[in-house]
Amino acid sequence: MFDSTLQIEVVEADITRLEVDVIVNAANSSLLGGGGVDGAIHRAAGPELLDECRRLGGCDAGDAKATKGHRLPAKHVIHTVGPIWRGRDKGEPELLSSCYSRSLQLAEQLGARSIAFPAISTGIYGFPKIPAAQIAIKTVHQHRGKVKRVLFVCFDRETAEIYRSLLLDGTAANE
Ligand code: ADP
Repeated sequence: MFDSTLQIEVVEADITRLEVDVIVNAANSSLLGGGGVDGAIHRAAGPELLDECRRLGGCDAGDAKATKGHRLPAKHVIHTVGPIWRGRDKGEPELLSSCYSRSLQLAEQLGARSIAFPAISTGIYGFPKIPAAQIAIKTVHQHRGKVKRVLFVCFDRETAEIYRSLLLDGTAANE
């Protein structure tokens, strides 16, 4: 079932520029920074973010931990660790779904109304883009709470087109 009060947007943007309550970071389990969106977030947030992350003691795949946004326009960063795609089903879809649901749970605890997600695990971690987008859309649609605006932030045209066509089609939300 669609939650008609949830506003979902697909944007082609650099997630570090967005003025939302929460941006989600596709981190690695050390939470000490890395490449891709993780590196971009740490560069934009400044060294205070790394200091705060050092105190979190890492994070398991499928889980999430929150920090402040520091120098970012976003108030908070939720760091989630996506699964590394291993070429066959080793529980990666469930872990990826958990990244979205745990991030939304933490966003609720922070009192957030808006949250921006990157396409978790689809870069360096190699999760195929279409099933990853289906999981993201389905999990977000299942969420109920005070978060009312969800942005799927796409760094390339191909990813944006995947999200747009799945959202228009509607089946990913209802499977
Ligand atoms: P992972 O290790 O989880 O695969 P990556 O950072 O390699 O994480 O990639 C996740 C997604 O984030 C990819 O679609 C990548 O293109 C995208 N990405 C990279 N930099 C940014 C950014 N600054 N803003 C938004 N998305 C980004």
